[in-house]
Amino acid sequence: MKQISLQGILFDDKSSFLKGPALAPPLIRQAYHSDSANYYAEDGKFIAPETFDDKGDFTIDSYFDIEKITWTNLEKETPLISFGGDHSITFPVIKAFHSLYGKMDILHIDAHSDLYSNFDGDPYSHACPFYNIMNEGLVENLYQVGIRTLNDGQRENAAKFGVQINEMKDFEEFSMPKFNNPLYLSVDMDALDPAFAPGVSHHESGGLSTRQLIHLIQDISVPLIGADIVEYNPTRDIHDMTAMVSAKLFKEIAAKMI
Ligand code: MN
Ligand code: MN
Repeated sequence: MKQISLQGILFDDKSSFLKGPALAPPLIRQAYHSDSANYYAEDGKFIAPETFDDKGDFTIDSYFDIEKITWTNLEKETPLISFGGDHSITFPVIKAFHSLYGKMDILHIDAHSDLYSNFDGDPYSHACPFYNIMNEGLVENLYQVGIRTLNDGQRENAAKFGVQINEMKDFEEFSMPKFNNPLYLSVDMDALDPAFAPGVSHHESGGLSTRQLIHLIQDISVPLIGADIVEYNPTRDIHDMTAMVSAKLFKEIAAKMI
């Protein structure tokens, strides 16, 4: 039975440092289907291919087409998982979710807070999606985990918008927030320590272990309306290990949705 929709966004035009994430969606699917693993999540749920209404992968001509495509693929009561793509996709994806759901909360797991109002002259850079989301009032509460690159400007924007940040240096003090609204989960693969996930554009040491990230996902105790897995960069990967981590996280996220 189709319980979750799936879309791939082949887009990395807003990557500031390296291209590559546009290649990710088919490779995450391929890793999910790899004969080296099975389709089970750790809670025992069988995450069969039939679980997914796979809308396919989309080539993007213009940035805000991502919102239109997401809107077409999004139905109430059916969670949608997006494979990126760089993190810029999350802003137009959330615009579509906001149109359908209104008030939402986001749990954002990343090395970076992505709270720049503008990066290298681009207000839609992959360093900016959460600034745009908060600036447009698309979500009520934004919670960030894994963050280890804050600068003054991003701290100011976090304070201005009331973003609740658990910095990586304080991760031992993290406890899962009490969400008040439908929850969307955004996972930037560079939240992980590059030792666990080398296939990302920005190697930011001192990150989460795969185990810690899986536990974060498993600790979510409210229904998820949507999620994305972004910033996997296959051109930087070693033996597809980051693809396999992405597929593992995908199964754990799906288990939270069914
Ligand atoms: Mn990011
Ligand atoms: Mn990041």
